[in-house]
Amino acid sequence: MTHLLHRSTRLQPRRAVAASGLTITDSEGRDYIDACGGAAVSCLGHGHPDVIAALHAQADSIAYAHTGFFTTEAAERLGDRLVADAPEGIGHAYLVSGGSEAVEAALKLARQYATERGEEGRRHVIARRQSYHGNTLGALAAGGNEWRRAQFRPLLMETHHIAPCFAYREQREAESDADYAARAAGELETKIRELGPESVLAFVAEPVVGATAGAVPPVGDYFKRIREICDRHGVLLILDEVMCGMGRTGTLHACEQEGISPDLMTVAKGLGGGYQPIGAVLLSEKIYDAISTGSGFFQHGHTYMGHPMAAAAALAVQEVIARDDLLANVREMGAHLRERLTGAFGSHPHVGDIRGRGLFQAIEMVADRESKAPFDPAQKLHARIKAVAMEEGLMVYPMGGTIDGARGDHVLLAPPFIVERADIDRIVERLARAVDRALG
Ligand code: PMP
Repeated sequence: MTHLLHRSTRLQPRRAVAASGLTITDSEGRDYIDACGGAAVSCLGHGHPDVIAALHAQADSIAYAHTGFFTTEAAERLGDRLVADAPEGIGHAYLVSGGSEAVEAALKLARQYATERGEEGRRHVIARRQSYHGNTLGALAAGGNEWRRAQFRPLLMETHHIAPCFAYREQREAESDADYAARAAGELETKIRELGPESVLAFVAEPVVGATAGAVPPVGDYFKRIREICDRHGVLLILDEVMCGMGRTGTLHACEQEGISPDLMTVAKGLGGGYQPIGAVLLSEKIYDAISTGSGFFQHGHTYMGHPMAAAAALAVQEVIARDDLLANVREMGAHLRERLTGAFGSHPHVGDIRGRGLFQAIEMVADRESKAPFDPAQKLHARIKAVAMEEGLMVYPMGGTIDGARGDHVLLAPPFIVERADIDRIVERLARAVDRALG
């Protein structure tokens, strides 16, 4: 029995001892296909030789240099690469150690931007119900997932939540996509007016919703409308691409498919592919300019920001993705995954929806296909699917609380970008067996 604290005091996790490609091996010699990249992290799979070589080389030259004294080539090259590939208007990259840190930094940069401009009155942050933006107290306050927030009130920051853009659950019968997108985005306009436009700082959203709802893409021109509403009221648009970004949906950034650019964007998970903890905030020129012509000092920093080992790993991951044209594979294998999921679950009595983009796909479990009624949360269907899938040698990412933080179950798939057709066929076969055993 280890004294290492695990998040569950009831479950004893298996011990992972080795990993290669799509496979993780435990201490009992059992293999698991990693069909979720952990939590949409391992985009190159495990043990990629080019990333390991880059880590060795970085460790041999310099493993750590505090950013108060030095920059490093790895950090500079990663920053330049992120900006070169970023959506229009992004001019700078700020390196941190993970997703929550990136969201914290984005929120603080937004507040500093307002202060530098003499707009201290802009303090309200708006996000969407059921959203997740990280677990640190500030990021938790931004998120709208009640189940995660309930035990931590009072939260650090008052946030206001509007409806998510979740067509399967929220789009009315006979309502067109265009009408639904207008209605869902209109909630932002209403909330801004209610709070008073001069008091609203930022709107935060995930372009494709990940963990809390299961690969939910936006509908129609939802994000174009959101961008326009933010611009009209001087509200900053923060896109959280921690999970859906860095190639996962088939384009480097998920927002490219929406035809919009954010003022601030967070990325993490796939940025370093799991080889090192790393995240980043991408800042538009207007944020940078307000601070550089104002105090000239970013009032935010972490000891490990721009860590050379993390930067070297992320740089190698991103170089391999570009060199091997892996985004084309994400699109091709994503289409194959979708086809296989549709084949296996398209008429399944307890699968209500199959959705996603690229290699970011999910199935939503329902007790009844017609009414879309969820399973009784006490059944913990998602946890059963996860446990049975592990017995089948498959790692997937099921989650409960799809609908409102309490009810609803989905299973998220996010395999590494190196996945091949035969792997996908095996993943879907095992998942189908696991789902039926869990229901059985
Ligand atoms: N934002 C989103 C959208 C996420 O999915 C996550 C992690 N699941 C986070 C932020 C927080 O990232 P981290 O766990 O690296 O702190």
